[in-house]
Amino acid sequence: MSVLNFLAPGAIPQEEFDAIKIEIHEAAPGVLMLVGQGGNIGISYGEDSVFMVDTQFGQLTEKILAAIRTRTDKPVQVVLNTHWHGDHVGGNGNFSARGALIVAHERAHARLSIDQFVGAFGQKIPAAPEEALPVITFKENISFNWNRDIIEVFHAPEAHTDGDAIVHFHKANVIHMGDTYFNGMYPFIDVDTGGSVDGMIAVADAVLARCDKNTKVIPGHGPLSNQSELQAYREMMATVRGAVTRLIGVGRSREEFIAAKPTAALDAVWDGGVLDPDTYVGHIYDSLTKTSE
Ligand SMILES: [Zn+2]
Repeated sequence: MSVLNFLAPGAIPQEEFDAIKIEIHEAAPGVLMLVGQGGNIGISYGEDSVFMVDTQFGQLTEKILAAIRTRTDKPVQVVLNTHWHGDHVGGNGNFSARGALIVAHERAHARLSIDQFVGAFGQKIPAAPEEALPVITFKENISFNWNRDIIEVFHAPEAHTDGDAIVHFHKANVIHMGDTYFNGMYPFIDVDTGGSVDGMIAVADAVLARCDKNTKVIPGHGPLSNQSELQAYREMMATVRGAVTRLIGVGRSREEFIAAKPTAALDAVWDGGVLDPDTYVGHIYDSLTKTSE
């Protein structure tokens, strides 16, 4: 899927959704990662009801529900949105219509409430319909005592966007990072809606401080992950940030900076996902020049 389709489902043909199969990956007993189209979904199921992290696209809701029903007949009672992008919240309205309460950081709620413009891809995204909006918001953190776990949700400031939520399933030892983590690929940093490379590195550090060698990490995109892969991703981001900072320091323009190929030594490992290196380094430049203004 093109990166342009990450934000809004309008450009994706129905046949593409029809062809999608929902993969079920067990992160821990009672905690699943579902992979379909769009952001990876986290599921906690057990004696209470289903706690769900992100909803992908509305066209996939029935398939997602069928995947959940292979493990439990309990309803989806809570949907936590990791951020406002359409490939993570597109099914919100379908789940709220079935009785789920939608929870998100207050900045994600604010962005879903009005039209957004992501200049990096020249894309305008209309406000979400009323039924798709979060009904519970938080500023710093919120916790759920659910399915015999403690599900702690905390804000990652100015990371992928300005309203990212990280979800830590304490007893299961699973952490869902939303799009602050693109496993094995250069990540999209949505500088236009408040993201920054420094926030991305900071949240990787915050999550690593909670990890041990048995922790399972659910990325927004890419396969189920762990502490050592997250560490490598964090080092990649810090390396590119360092290279860009040096080039900005000697007065390079955005074009000169991209032409200098500061990621050349990293591309063999990290180019293979959604963003090509030139686009990624352009966003890093935008992030660092924006924050230094
Ligand atoms: Zn996103």
